[in-house]
Amino acid sequence: MKRILLKLSGEALAGEKHRGFDEPTVTEVAKQVKVLVDQGIEVGIVIGGGNFWRGRTSETIDRTKADQIGMLATVMNCIYVSEIFRSVGMKTAVLTPFECGSMTKLFSKDRANKYFDHNMVVFFAGGTGHPYFSTDTATVLRAIEIEADGIYLAKAIDGVYDSDPKVNPDAKKYDELSIEEVIDKKLAVVDLTASIMCMENKMPMYVFSLNEKDGIVNAVSGKFNGTKVTV
Ligand code: UDP
Repeated sequence: MKRILLKLSGEALAGEKHRGFDEPTVTEVAKQVKVLVDQGIEVGIVIGGGNFWRGRTSETIDRTKADQIGMLATVMNCIYVSEIFRSVGMKTAVLTPFECGSMTKLFSKDRANKYFDHNMVVFFAGGTGHPYFSTDTATVLRAIEIEADGIYLAKAIDGVYDSDPKVNPDAKKYDELSIEEVIDKKLAVVDLTASIMCMENKMPMYVFSLNEKDGIVNAVSGKFNGTKVTV
């Protein structure tokens, strides 16, 4: 793997609290990503917003406005995680698909490539910039645009199962399955729009647990215990 896109859910940043930030959790993520960067792997990051807000949280306010709040939540997450990454010795940049003044830089493929050339971890904040999309879609979109070798999905669960293991004790974990199976069986790896984009653009995904010790390092450097979604 030369270049990867790592997706962290917003809730992954919150640890046991499930809201806001948990600094020890994010510092642990940072230390693991540093191992990859020190190996010469280029790392792009997309972070969800669920630790603050999801567009579907409110049934009262307009969905477009609710989604805008969600996208801004992902910007806050990326600025925070970027700073923690810097505190452990990495160089970082935060790119957004809309202007955020001096807080971030506007996304372009050329700009992302320039930062990767400078050994920086590049955060793709603000989702796609459009309501009715998700950070899953943003993850796949950016992975395709930056020509990543694969998407690494850090989850609270250690892979893809044929049914919910919390509900069904006999649920079976897949070591590998195709993106067509994910779509046909409606397995919630990423949302449907993102799955279709992966299929059309032949972008593999690797699902693994963030709770496993050295989960990120293991997933990327061969000791992979999760589920590979092939294309
Ligand atoms: N969002 C959006 N467009 C995007 C990406 C995100 O409108 O391209 C909004 C949407 O409201 C979503 C919220 O941002 O609910 C947070 O993102 P997401 O739910 O994907 O975060 P996660 O559930 O992975 O923590």
